Amino acid sequence: MSTHESPGAARPGHALLIRDLMLRVRTWAPGRTIQYRDRVTLTYREWLGRTARLGAWLGRLGVRPGDRVGVLDWDSHRVLEMFFAVPCVGATLHTVNVKLTPEQVGYTIRHARDTVLFVHADFLPLLAGIRGFLGMVRHVVVLADGPWEAPDGLPVAGEYEEGLGSVEPLASWPDLEEDTTATLFYTTGTTGDPKGVSFTHRQIVLHTLAATMTLAIYEEPMSLRASDVYMPLTPMFHVHAWGVPYIAVAVGLTQVYPGRYEPAVLLALMERHRVTFTHCVPTLLLMLLRHPASGTVDWSRLKVVIGGAALLPAVAREARERGICIVGGYGMSETCPIVAVSNLQPGLVGPGGRVEDEVDVITRTGFPLPLVQARVVDEEGREVPAGGEGVGELVLRCPWLTSGYVDDPAASERLWKDGWLHTGDGARIDADGYIRITDRIKDVIKIGGEWISSLEIEGVLARHPAVAEAAVIGAPDAKWDEHPRAEVVLRPGVAAPTPRELVRHLHAAVEDGVLHKRALLTEVVLVESIPRTSVGKVDKKRMRAALKSGG
Ligand code: ADP
Repeated sequence: MSTHESPGAARPGHALLIRDLMLRVRTWAPGRTIQYRDRVTLTYREWLGRTARLGAWLGRLGVRPGDRVGVLDWDSHRVLEMFFAVPCVGATLHTVNVKLTPEQVGYTIRHARDTVLFVHADFLPLLAGIRGFLGMVRHVVVLADGPWEAPDGLPVAGEYEEGLGSVEPLASWPDLEEDTTATLFYTTGTTGDPKGVSFTHRQIVLHTLAATMTLAIYEEPMSLRASDVYMPLTPMFHVHAWGVPYIAVAVGLTQVYPGRYEPAVLLALMERHRVTFTHCVPTLLLMLLRHPASGTVDWSRLKVVIGGAALLPAVAREARERGICIVGGYGMSETCPIVAVSNLQPGLVGPGGRVEDEVDVITRTGFPLPLVQARVVDEEGREVPAGGEGVGELVLRCPWLTSGYVDDPAASERLWKDGWLHTGDGARIDADGYIRITDRIKDVIKIGGEWISSLEIEGVLARHPAVAEAAVIGAPDAKWDEHPRAEVVLRPGVAAPTPRELVRHLHAAVEDGVLHKRALLTEVVLVESIPRTSVGKVDKKRMRAALKSGG
């Protein structure tokens, strides 16, 4: 077929490829650095060379297009090398979630059919314990920060640095189809088996471009700049650290990779390397802000994107009081993940605007990114009009949503019912066009036929000065079907209120019209800690299970 007749897919330079996000930095910022803890400093020039060596070495290890390569590491320059080299040779990078149970880790490696595994020495004992799952794995490559020892019975092919040193860098990266699968990871799945979610080159490139536009173009409440120093605080195994490492390389940011997340180390790295841009779940930010060493950090240089859970006004205010620029983002594993960010719409806030306080806007869930279509539908799939009080399920369309779960057609069909991706999140779209998540649909509490948002009750409880954390689930109730049950962790060193006093605090919010009056049925239970998932989110499934079993 002549070029003239072809639809263009085969034309060189036409495909959207991760390779072409990477190569610009060769000449744009070759001398900028990528730091790993205080162990390794690489210029982009060196990092590109290592990435090209990795590309060549993957071939030597027998990795062919379509093969899956797993990595079990803390956040490092090495994983960043794999983010690019593995997809750019046409293979798929499986970022293994090391926080899952050993069986689930084994399940995901077997389900993904990983043939080569890159494994930090810290995880070799874990791997040795799940040998039974590793039938497909031909080579294990060790990532070491110090001395290591290979357990018996693993097909250890050697150590990463030695391997990189044993080959010449790849002279050029192949042309690929843009729909080649680039990455794969598993949702945390607190019930049932984890589900595999994958993304293509095209999806990652488009996500990178649209997320950069959104994070970097609007000045309010913050803007990513080319001069920023980036450090992830969302693990790289969790939705590619929200895709920000791809942005960082594409625009040539100075980067810092913190290894294992240890609060004192994170704070020291932030200060030593003058980190200015990061992203995390709210819990992690609060943990850092309240850490004994938090006074050693100049927070006023920091910009933070909060996601994975609602950015509550109390958290936003606490961060802003420390001088941090903060914004909220929304997404999920299946959405690559960023689909909405709570930028300030022009004219909305300030003198003459409809909203007085910025925090009221940045704590809205978010405004859809360019190319994202968002709507709210009722149980019959009918659209709930924006701008009203009606709540339904948020459904999405855009070019970077996963096409389905790996080898799970039934779950994929449910995800993509009626041609829209079903988020499982209850939401409304307000008159200004912002998405407002009201609840996980399954977390909505139905009290005597009325849906009450657990998030709203949590938000009010969190505003009580003695409350460190609060999580609300629906508890079975003979009279009301369900009532809200709040598990509350108190702040140390503050006069402890009784559960009854906390309910009185809810009462004030009901009188102010902030909460539905049925929220007064909340049962408050004081607890030492709230269960969390492997990525630090409140684990309501576990709370419900504990309640059911009388725990
Ligand atoms: P991530 O933690 O990266 O967002 P997950 O797939 O683990 O990805 O979780 C996605 C879910 O987290 C969403 O479906 C939603 O329930 C919740 N979530 C994410 N962002 C927000 C937000 N800004 N507000 C409320 N809930 C959120």
